[in-house]
Amino acid sequence: RAKARGRNAIHFYEQAMQQQAIDRLALQAAMYEALQQQDFELHYQPQVNASGYICGVEALIRWNHPQRGAVSPAEFIPLAEETELILKIGDWVLWQAFSQAERWSHSASTSHLVISVNVSARQFAQADFVARMEQVLRQTGANPRRLQLELTESMLADDTRDIIAKMQQLKALGLLISLDDFGTGYSSLSYLQQLPLDQLKVDQSFVRDINPQEPQRALAASIIALGLSLELEVIAEGIETPEQLAFLQQQGCQLFQGYLLGRPMPVASLEERLHCRE
Ligand code: C2E
Ligand code: MG
Ligand code: MG
Ligand code: MG
Repeated sequence: RAKARGRNAIHFYEQAMQQQAIDRLALQAAMYEALQQQDFELHYQPQVNASGYICGVEALIRWNHPQRGAVSPAEFIPLAEETELILKIGDWVLWQAFSQAERWSHSASTSHLVISVNVSARQFAQADFVARMEQVLRQTGANPRRLQLELTESMLADDTRDIIAKMQQLKALGLLISLDDFGTGYSSLSYLQQLPLDQLKVDQSFVRDINPQEPQRALAASIIALGLSLELEVIAEGIETPEQLAFLQQQGCQLFQGYLLGRPMPVASLEERLHCRE
């Protein structure tokens, strides 16, 4: 009987694996369809300075699946990253965000906005990534000074010289570069110093640790100090409480992003908020 149970367990395990593989395939197929049927949308989350002024926004992809409803990018982006699909989605995001920057350039209440765009590892690794950027800039007519690419430490980890050269070419196009989720990777300080960055984004895990119960503030504080010493703009994400905001501000953080200041929202809602604050 023990043997039979063992067999059943293996059988059950196998079934679970099969189901998982099938679910993944179904989700990947659904993403292809979503691209064609334009079920993706970009939302924009405000980034405010110490005066409460909205200086920029982060573009965050949203997927409204006709049956599943809203699917989180935390779920589908990693899955897309396993295939070439991420390149198509990435191109779509760039095209959308750059076009938005161009549209916003015509109005006084939006022309200052810098749009931050998440770039995936596979996208950045494309040999022709810089040429693609140049092409999207040209085709949309967007001002590169209003566009910031969010890269993560993991995609900068290997092959140092090529990566720095690529970043320098992006800088030469006029684009800004931010290091997203900073503090979760393993970049050495000497390496960090060589990267042509404009902004350091303190990962939300460090912001979460800032609370009255648990005075684990040392990490957030030292990351901010590090960014400032490298003469980078420092932004914190995931700010949910006034205590977190006050602490980050006190440490010299310059830009703030989180539910406390504004959720990711559709273009129309953001424009409404910008216009009524004027
Ligand atoms: P990320 O780039 O680090 O984006 C920040 C995430 O934190 C977003 O989740 C945002 O909605 C969420 N967030 C903002 N403020 C708060 C807050 O106060 N509290 C909490 N708990 N969360 C907050 P989202 O939109 O679900 O995106 C998750 C991740 O998916 C992003 O992390 C990014 O890695 C990826 N992603 C999103 N859009 C894109 C995209 O267009 N392209 C690529 N390649 N990746 C994307
Ligand atoms: Mg980001
Ligand atoms: Mg982040
Ligand atoms: Mg993240």
